[in-house]
Amino acid sequence: MKTGVFFHSEFALRDWPIIGNKYRNFPRVMERVLSLEGVALFESKPVPEELLLKVHTEDYLKDVKKAWYCKGAALAVGGCVEASEKIAKGEITNALVFAVAAGHHAEPSSAWGGTYLSCAGPAVAHLRDILGNKRFAIIDTDSHHGNGTRAVFRNDLNVLHVCFCDDDTVEGNGTKIDVDVGYRTSDQAYLEKVQEEFIERVRRFSPFMIFHNFGHDTCEGDYGDRGLTPYFFLRLAEEVRRCAEEVCEGRYLIITHGGYLMEVAEYIFPAIVEILAQP
Ligand SMILES: [Zn+2]
Ligand SMILES: [Zn+2]
Repeated sequence: MKTGVFFHSEFALRDWPIIGNKYRNFPRVMERVLSLEGVALFESKPVPEELLLKVHTEDYLKDVKKAWYCKGAALAVGGCVEASEKIAKGEITNALVFAVAAGHHAEPSSAWGGTYLSCAGPAVAHLRDILGNKRFAIIDTDSHHGNGTRAVFRNDLNVLHVCFCDDDTVEGNGTKIDVDVGYRTSDQAYLEKVQEEFIERVRRFSPFMIFHNFGHDTCEGDYGDRGLTPYFFLRLAEEVRRCAEEVCEGRYLIITHGGYLMEVAEYIFPAIVEILAQP
């Protein structure tokens, strides 16, 4: 199996913080691509609490558990953990994991911006339990700074985190990077920055797997609008997929992030499954 798609019917049922109900027609809108050879749909399962405790504090988790969105968040993180394990074991090569209420704004003991549990944190912790201390790369192309992902991995020099947002900084011996993409940019200019600031670095870093915090809030008309067209997201996925094939045997895990435009979600995610499944 080449590509795993991780989804749960719960994601289609609710109006989630920040991203709204953009998944209400999923997984139906992916029907055609889900029947392609090499593609399989998996139902996301809730993440085990012991994995959350490797990243979040007990008190913070107590608060999250009281919130209505907790079930969705736990399913999103569980999808990431299972997808990363299947990739590590070679059962699939890459994956598209749908996430709600979880992602890059969740720090160990606080969160904002509609994401209340870390996705990459528990996945990396779990992979280290099975594989030992491997290196991982995370590219963050949501419109906003990935403060949570950064906080979780701040002192971890075996995690390269390249975040495309509003700052130009290099910290952590060159493993924690922010790239200012500008308030208005173009598809081409953004992709060139991905080449220079992520792909060049990831070649030198040589990670075991690439995680992608994949927001589409940067699209024209969305709440993090930077002037990108819907087609940009296909080119981006293609670019990073090719990079993963070059540096880490194709091991590539996309986690959906921000963006509330349903028509953009319905256009890009089926097409991204097709890109991931290409032989
Ligand atoms: Zn965002
Ligand atoms: Zn950033």
